[in-house]
Amino acid sequence: MALLDELKARGVHETGHWELKSGRHADTYLQCTIAMGDPAFARRIGRQLADQLHELEANVVCAPGVSSMLLAFTVADALAARMLWFEEGKRGHGLRRGQRVGPGDRVVVVEDVLSTGRTAANAAAFMTRKKAEVVGFAAMVDRSSEDMPLPWTPTVLVREPLITYAPNSCPQCAAGTPATDPSA
Ligand SMILES: [Zn+2]
Repeated sequence: MALLDELKARGVHETGHWELKSGRHADTYLQCTIAMGDPAFARRIGRQLADQLHELEANVVCAPGVSSMLLAFTVADALAARMLWFEEGKRGHGLRRGQRVGPGDRVVVVEDVLSTGRTAANAAAFMTRKKAEVVGFAAMVDRSSEDMPLPWTPTVLVREPLITYAPNSCPQCAAGTPATDPSA
C-alpha cells in the first residue's frame, strides 16, 4: 500500500475546520501522531528515511518540536546517531533538559510533517548559532504548497500538498463554523 493510503487507513486523515500554526485554515489534517504511536510502523518509517540519509553522515537527528520526537528517534536509531528535541520553555522554544549541541556535530532536522518549513528553518538557525553544522532536512510527509525557507530540498517519503485558505476567503469561516487547533 502506498504510504499516504496506509496513513489514511491508520485513521490519521481528519476532516474539520482547522486553524494551522501559520494562521491559515484547512479542511483536512494529517494527525500523524496517531500512526507514530505504533512502534513497528514508526521504526519502519524511520528506517526508510535513514536509508536515504546515510550519506549525510549525521551524528545528530533533531526534532524541531514534540510532534516529531517519535520519528526523529527512530531515524536516529537507524543512523546510530544521537537524538535531540526542541520544546517550549520559559526561555522560548529550544533545547531543554540539559540537551546540548555544538562544534563538530552534523545535524539532520527531521519532522513528521513539513508544511511551511518555518519550524525546521528555525531549528536549523538555532543549530548554526550553536556552531553545529546542519547537513539535511527530512520528513515523512511534505505538505508544502510553496517554496520552503530551507537551504536544501528535504528528503521526504510522500508529497501531499495541503490546500489552505486565508481566514477571509475560507468557505467554512463564511459559513460561520468555528475553527479549531488540530494540535490541541
Ligand atoms: Zn476558516
